[in-house]
Amino acid sequence: MSEDEKPAERRRMVKPPTGGTAAGRGMGQKIKTADKKSMSSQQWIKRQLADPWSERARAEGWRSRAAFKLMQMDDHLGLIKPGCRVIDLGAAPGGWVQVALDRGAKAVVGVDLLPIEHIAGAELIQADFTHAGVDRQLMEALGGAPDLVLSDMAHNTIGHRQTDHLKIIALIEIAADFAIRTLKPGGAFVTKNFQGGNAGGVLARLREEFETVKPFKPEASRKGSSEVYLVATNRR
Ligand code: SAM
Repeated sequence: MSEDEKPAERRRMVKPPTGGTAAGRGMGQKIKTADKKSMSSQQWIKRQLADPWSERARAEGWRSRAAFKLMQMDDHLGLIKPGCRVIDLGAAPGGWVQVALDRGAKAVVGVDLLPIEHIAGAELIQADFTHAGVDRQLMEALGGAPDLVLSDMAHNTIGHRQTDHLKIIALIEIAADFAIRTLKPGGAFVTKNFQGGNAGGVLARLREEFETVKPFKPEASRKGSSEVYLVATNRR
């Protein structure tokens, strides 16, 4: 999981979205374990507490600040249609699953390496999406071809630029291949990508298979990060 996307701590809210909770810690409370955590962990906590999107996620009951990224993409591009079927790759802790359900999806299946706490109305599977047979498992759980395939998958970076880059591209290619094989005609695919990366091959393939392919940087994506999403719409 990228540092950007660790789960938002949850606190009291007016009306939690599906899978949200009114329980949690208020901002004023002291983090008792912070002194025992590693330096990077402490820096991450400080950044989260200072981040307005994390604060909003906590207040409104979204499981991650990433929820706002999908809302912003959907607001601009109308991706989540009422009654649609959605597959969410790299779904933990579940922010995008919550948004898809909240905006009218009738079936949502999420998969992640990490366990995802139950969200009413969604089927959540703990597995490595790159492993053989997991794609079939997702399709069986969805009960029909998806209208929308989302991938926010991000591996744990190891700090070796070339290796990290190859891993990013591999995840994008596997997700794109799955979307192309399974989406209904007219369907859409969203994948996390990184500026400056070499996603040229997969971009060309997406342009052949979809009517439009555009980059999108949601407002909630950190300004300094190279994260950008590729949004492919209208599967041919
Ligand atoms: N969109 C999510 C949300 O709204 O809560 C946040 C997703 S987070 C940025 C990326 C996730 O991708 C991590 O939880 C990570 O475990 C998952 N991931 C990375 N590689 C994966 C793989 N091969 N199979 C399944 N999940 C994977």
